[in-house]
Amino acid sequence: MSTLRFEAIKETFKRTPVSVEEPARRSEIFGKNVFNEAAMRQYLTKDSFKSVMDAIKNGSKIERHIADHISTGMKEWAIAKGATHYTHWFQPLTGATAEKHDAFFETMENGQAIEKFGGGQLVQQEPDASSFPNGGIRNTFEARGYTAWDPTSPAFIYGTTLCIPTVFVAYTGEALDYKTPLLRALQTIDNAATAVAKYFDKNVTKVNATLGWEQEYFLIDSALAASRPDISLAGRTLLGHSSAKGQQLDDHYFGSIPARVLNFMRHLETECMLLGIPVKTRHNEVAPNQFELAPIFEETNLAVDHNSLLMDLMHKVADKHNFKVLFHEKPFANVNGSGKHNNWSLATDTGVNLLGPGSTPMKNLQFLTFFINTLKAVNEYEELLRASIASASNDHRLGANEAPPAIISAFIGSQLTEVLDELEKVTSGKLSPQEKTDLKLNVVGKIPEILLDNTDRNRTSPFAFTGNKFEFRAVGSTANCANPMTVLNAIVAKQLIDFKKEVDKLIKEKKMKKDDAIFNVLKEYIKDSKRIRFEGDGYGEAWEKEAKKRGLSNHKTTPEALKAKVSKKAIALFEELGIMSKVELEARYEIEMEDYTMRIQIEGRILGDIARNHVIPTAIRYQNILIENVQGLKNIYGTDFKKLAGEQLQLIEQISEHIAKINKGITDMIEARKKANKIENVEEKAVAYCDDVKPFFQVIRYHCDKLELLVDDEIWPLTKYRELLFTK
Ligand code: ADP
Ligand code: MG
Repeated sequence: MSTLRFEAIKETFKRTPVSVEEPARRSEIFGKNVFNEAAMRQYLTKDSFKSVMDAIKNGSKIERHIADHISTGMKEWAIAKGATHYTHWFQPLTGATAEKHDAFFETMENGQAIEKFGGGQLVQQEPDASSFPNGGIRNTFEARGYTAWDPTSPAFIYGTTLCIPTVFVAYTGEALDYKTPLLRALQTIDNAATAVAKYFDKNVTKVNATLGWEQEYFLIDSALAASRPDISLAGRTLLGHSSAKGQQLDDHYFGSIPARVLNFMRHLETECMLLGIPVKTRHNEVAPNQFELAPIFEETNLAVDHNSLLMDLMHKVADKHNFKVLFHEKPFANVNGSGKHNNWSLATDTGVNLLGPGSTPMKNLQFLTFFINTLKAVNEYEELLRASIASASNDHRLGANEAPPAIISAFIGSQLTEVLDELEKVTSGKLSPQEKTDLKLNVVGKIPEILLDNTDRNRTSPFAFTGNKFEFRAVGSTANCANPMTVLNAIVAKQLIDFKKEVDKLIKEKKMKKDDAIFNVLKEYIKDSKRIRFEGDGYGEAWEKEAKKRGLSNHKTTPEALKAKVSKKAIALFEELGIMSKVELEARYEIEMEDYTMRIQIEGRILGDIARNHVIPTAIRYQNILIENVQGLKNIYGTDFKKLAGEQLQLIEQISEHIAKINKGITDMIEARKKANKIENVEEKAVAYCDDVKPFFQVIRYHCDKLELLVDDEIWPLTKYRELLFTK
């Protein structure tokens, strides 16, 4: 009997829901471990408090002597809550979060000790960062990097450590993390959107990009997960025959949440509350053992930090409930994969959602302005947007018959389509008073505050308007949202800047009224961005053909898709907006290409190992059992044995055939890897891994999965899909 698999299964029989304590009112514990406004009021002097608030709201600098006061207050607060250590908490280009704990504890000359945390330690640190990816930046420039406090994301206590969100940059100024360009992009869209929002309301002084992510994930029993080398090392199954029952019956989606899982969720949500992560929604997803969690949306920088923190937290809480969380976009073949929808909008400091239709024609013109500019931006930079979500694991969704496709398009629904069609007919130049009244009453004025299409969504669209926000659905479940959010906010910012210039020009040079100018420019934008609008089925071949005609990109693999990150157009955009330099972009490009190569390389090795060391020996053992059986029959029945051993003989042959194919597949794959490894250029190497190495995965897997169906269940060493997916 295969011990590991059956030991693991036995382990799962003993599982019971792990009990959790949950407060009756979540609001009472919300943000308890966050150095938020309430905590700051209590622990900071008036001046320090004002200084932090000013930094949060207006991005102003905090003076050094004030930082000393802040750090002292923060330390006292943290110690009162049981913290012993502090760390700068940042997001290097690995995509995960990084932390290095230091104790508050400090010795003095007289042999005694105190708890200390100075302003200097709060504001800046120099972690030994030589092992973080830098894409060559720190080789060509100076070798050091530092982390610097980001006051816009509040410090929090995680376990017994005070975590201070920071950016991570090289001494020469290049960003080495995800947060730095995101903050720059958010500042840019704030400026650009505020300027445009002032056309409609002079009182607007700040616009925040908002983000509400929806996190999908799988929960697998930890013993079962540990029994599979592929899940342990790659976060997904590289082989495994489909279970007879998968998701055909749609009986998991929104079904009643299994008891063990529910306790995990309750525990997780309690921890989220303490950390100020405003999680709200939980449910079963489509695939068996797949679930989703979503918060109330927040300002984007904070929402991104919260998502990163959440992913880390989920691993820790899952451990306590004997689960392993799989964030991989496609952990199992033939059932749905996971994504991370990024719901995005723009909110003014006057409390208006700029992508929400309003109750008056003027409010609706404002809505249309931001709505149409977003469409134009996505149309202009669809390829860059696609690049922002490219990864080895997300390739399994995009362009692989899984929602959504690799082609970026925008779904807006029939009501808004009608409105845009009407607006397109506006006269060029000055509008007659009659036309303007008519427009306002019958077109702009008729956009209902709640859009009906809201409920009638097209699930195949990668970028859908859902009533009062856009939903970027192509983001992968493992992704750090900072990447797509940097790009989306940057391209819309750029678009709004251009829009403002055009409108102002018409007002100044053509002496147009503001509304006339806005209508004129929007009308052109509607025409310009038509190709990005698509209301149909995004899965079919028909759309691929149509998209090609429209000139939309369709990059199905990461090495292909990433190129847009370093195109002339992308470099010009990011440099113009001051979000990333050419050096930073090229570094990121290299890091992501390398990441791709390494992931395929690792998966190739794991698959080769499992197939050769687990699958083939098992198949041979079973074949030997069959051979013994046939020999026995021959001993008893003599020449008549063939009639009785027909099935067995066939099986013996089939097993040999599959073994031969697997062996050849592995040998060829290793050859292809050797060749690819010799390539120096990172781009060519990634392409070689994609085109020459990866295709063998399918071949090897196919024959392994066939063997799984032939070989005696009692000796099969790999925990099966039905066990992984249906153990609750
Ligand atoms: P679903 O797409 O699963 O049907 P909802 O449409 O209810 O779910 O909302 C999904 C997410 O959208 C939630 O996380 C919510 O906070 C977020 N969301 C709602 N309004 C906004 C907004 N104005 N900006 C950003 N995110 C938003
Ligand atoms: Mg959604």
